Amino acid sequence: MTIFDSMSTYGYGEAHLVRDEHAGLRAVVAIHDSRRGPALGGCRFVSYMNEGAAITDALRLARAMTYKAALAGLPHGGGKSVILAPSGEFDRTALLTRFAAFIEDLGGRYITAEDAGTSVADMELMRKRTKHVVGLPAPQGSGDPSPFTALGVRRGIEACVKFALGRDNLHGVHVAVQGVGNVGYHLCKELAEAGAKLTCADVRDELAQRVAKELGAQLANASEIHRVKCDVYAPCALGGAINDRTLPQLQCQIVAGAANNQLASDECGTILHERGILYAPDYAINAGGLINVAQEVAGYDPKVARARTLDIFGTVMEISERSRRANLPPHQVADQWVHEILAE
Ligand code: NAD
Repeated sequence: MTIFDSMSTYGYGEAHLVRDEHAGLRAVVAIHDSRRGPALGGCRFVSYMNEGAAITDALRLARAMTYKAALAGLPHGGGKSVILAPSGEFDRTALLTRFAAFIEDLGGRYITAEDAGTSVADMELMRKRTKHVVGLPAPQGSGDPSPFTALGVRRGIEACVKFALGRDNLHGVHVAVQGVGNVGYHLCKELAEAGAKLTCADVRDELAQRVAKELGAQLANASEIHRVKCDVYAPCALGGAINDRTLPQLQCQIVAGAANNQLASDECGTILHERGILYAPDYAINAGGLINVAQEVAGYDPKVARARTLDIFGTVMEISERSRRANLPPHQVADQWVHEILAE
């Protein structure tokens, strides 16, 4: 597939390539959509099988950012950058400084942030060369996004529980959490404070043990957590948690978690709907971190970030209602809603 074929698959947009032999830099900046404002999205710094894989990853991820920002009501389009990790030795400071200069040259059309393979320290370094970077440390920056992502997921779970179970709070609601890393851990804290009953699992046993010890969660095997009989299954690990193997084994009424790309395919979302399991579309429910970091553009205020993250309740409720009215799966309804917002 050519680059232009890929771009048309993802409904583009722009893709910028930059190469600097001296700094060892090879990077892609994908700007999926900027109708609602400058494209915002993190910078990945990872190894790829080949250049095509890097470009496809940037295009795919930037589109997801457009969807996430639109539903969160942010004045931003979706963007993503990908730096191909050099195979040999390299000077990280020189490479990131050169990349920051390239972002500056884009004139604010793309705003970068931390992502896999980059850190808050990298953002601080890049900030010396470009103002179009967010994700700086608190208090002047927005700090760690994970607690905000978890807060938004808790609000999304509350909306699902109200919609599907008719309950006004999480007291006694049983949530099974897959993956208790950065977001999953904070989510468990949010849920425990709200009185939910927790079961959790992580492939890193010590992380699951910590949640059991601190918050009284029951433990499940990482390969079995999706089978736990519960009210809510919350995937907070990797993508593809809802797939052909796990789907028939689910014993929950709601799937609502933080992970990106939870549905292995659109078909999986349709089957969830047919089985009467309510699904909170991932990019709607996990937008808290993006909402938080986006506040830096206008001057960071944690109260505003928190208030906007709490609104995820309304977004997930609206998707659920539209889904019921149209008898369409929530992931399709959410996509349609994004297209309406972008066409406005
Ligand atoms: P993380 O790496 O800190 O946590 C993921 C956890 O999942 C790890 O502890 C890992 O050991 C565990 N895990 C991996 N495979 C597992 C499996 N098969 N079963 C059980 N546990 C497993 O990552 P994170 O920052 O907490 O993000 C979690 C998910 O949420 C990711 O999909 C991420 O893309 C998404 N997300 C994160 C944010 C954020 O603010 N960090 C925002 C939006 C979306």
